[in-house]
Order: sequence, then structure tokens, then C-alpha cells
Amino acid sequence: MRVVLSFDIEIWCGGWEQLDQKFPAAFERYIYGRSEAGAYALPKTLEILQRHQLQAVFFIEPLFAARFGLKYLEEIVGLIKAAGQDVQLHLHPEWSDEITPLPFPGAAVKRQHLFQYDLEEQTRLIGLGKQLLQQAGGGQAQVFRAGSYAANANTYKALAANGIYLDSSLNNCFANSGQDIPRDNTSNATLDIGEVHCVPVSVYQDGLGCRRPAQISAAGNDELKEAMESALAQGQTDFVVVSHNFEMLKAKTSLPDRLVVNRFENLCAFLAAQAHRFDVGPFRSARSPSLVQAAFPQVSRLATTRRYIEQLRRRF
Ligand SMILES: [Zn+2]
Repeated sequence: MRVVLSFDIEIWCGGWEQLDQKFPAAFERYIYGRSEAGAYALPKTLEILQRHQLQAVFFIEPLFAARFGLKYLEEIVGLIKAAGQDVQLHLHPEWSDEITPLPFPGAAVKRQHLFQYDLEEQTRLIGLGKQLLQQAGGGQAQVFRAGSYAANANTYKALAANGIYLDSSLNNCFANSGQDIPRDNTSNATLDIGEVHCVPVSVYQDGLGCRRPAQISAAGNDELKEAMESALAQGQTDFVVVSHNFEMLKAKTSLPDRLVVNRFENLCAFLAAQAHRFDVGPFRSARSPSLVQAAFPQVSRLATTRRYIEQLRRRF
């Protein structure tokens, strides 16, 4: 089974007021996350992957660079490429009204989600993101993930129009994800949407029967391992884990969140030790055969209980 460790890389200024004043500190925190403990944003993420010799995929949000300058995007691409990791395209269209010139006249009003833009607008935005990423040294994006997983049917037409045929936008834990795309949303089955092949973010059923995304900050240590074991036993061909550049940081600070750091370290150690069973790497090509899966992978009640205990320990 191919396991894709994917990271969405983005910068937020904590609101849309006084962006220019807030940006330098936001960039510093979101990309480096430095404290006395170390740089627990991107540098620590890359270091842990390198230590375990794992290949991951970094979806970079580039629209912010049309506001603040390409050099910031070049810096991010440079860090990721220097570590030998894969660079792909992420997009948060809520930047559209913050950049000059506006990408199209209707961008003047802020709209958060990609599905709120028509086909022509989405085509333009994805094209702009792809161009910025390329100008910053990121090469030609081959894979896409929509911000907040908020893709719709038009997103897939816009991707094909921009020469991108592989996607990982859909996440069956989010109601906004693929609302108008007819599909089985009770499994992690890959699907073809027009010309584009989509490998959704993996979802599992926790020990209490709730759906949860395979996200490093959201899933317990044992839950992620059991979900991957369960997916493998079901004959799944792909398992997509998601995280972000800032997930190992405590909210609103640059201090490491030890719980999330431990989860990520444990996951990497597990995958490195189980390399004969879990094939960690980039997304498989759009033409790779995929099995249709019957249900979400299932984890035990014990693993979910342990997540609650991990979280309680953090609180106190
Ligand atoms: Zn995002």
C-alpha cells in the first residue's frame, strides 16, 4: 500500500487587517517556528522526515506571494527542495482580493472557498498559483489540493485546463469538500473526475464509530497505525495522511506541542520500520490501478481511548 505523507504549507496573518505589518512575524512563525527548543515548523518537519528517510509531498500555497513578493515563496520552495522533498500546489483563494493587480475583476469581494468561484475564475486562480510556484523554483505542479478541501466539480475542469491531472482535495470529514461531486463518500476509494484522478485524504472510523481524518494532530498514535493496518488488510492501494507546516507548534506561539511532535516522530519511526509493508512516497500516477474499497478503515476502542488520554494529559 502506498502511504503518502502530505503537508499543506501556508501562512496566516491572524486576520485580514494590517496585513503588511503582520506578515513578517507570521512568515517567521509559520515557516520556521523558532523557539529555544528549535525550529518546529518546516525545518523540524523536514529534519524528522530526513532522519527516517521518508519521502513526503508538500502542497505549497503560493497566492500570498502575489502580495508580499516571490522571495518568500522562493525561500519556502528552497527549504523543501534542499531536503529532497516533493513540491506541489495548494491554493487558498481568500488571498485573491489582497493581491494587486486583482486576478480578475470579481475578485474584489473576499470569498473563502474555491467552490464559490465559477469555472473561469478557478481556472485563472489555479493558473496563477501554478505560475507563481514555477517562478519560485517549484517546477511544474502535477498534483493539487484545494484549501480547506473545498473543491467542487468545476475545480476538476479548471485543473485539467491547467494541465494538472492528479488531485488530493477531497476529504470525507468535511461537508464543503466535493459537495456537487457524485461519489461514494463512505470509503477512501480513489475516483476519476472528468480527466483528473483524485486520491482523497484518508478517513478512518474511530473506536466510538466517528469519522476522523488521517491527520497527525487529530489522530492518536495508535489510531493512525491501526487505520493503516486496517486499510492494508482491506486491500486499499493508497493511504493519504495530512498535516501542516504549523501542526507541531502550540496555538499562537512558536513553542513545540510535544503531543503532536511525539505523534509525528512515532508515525515516522513506525513507517520506517515497516517499509516492507507500507510504501511511503509521492502520489502514484493517474494511470495506476486503484482498488475500490468497501468501507473506511476501522480502529479499536482502545486506540481511541488512548487518544483521549493523550489529550487529557496535554491539558493538565
Ligand atoms: Zn490549507
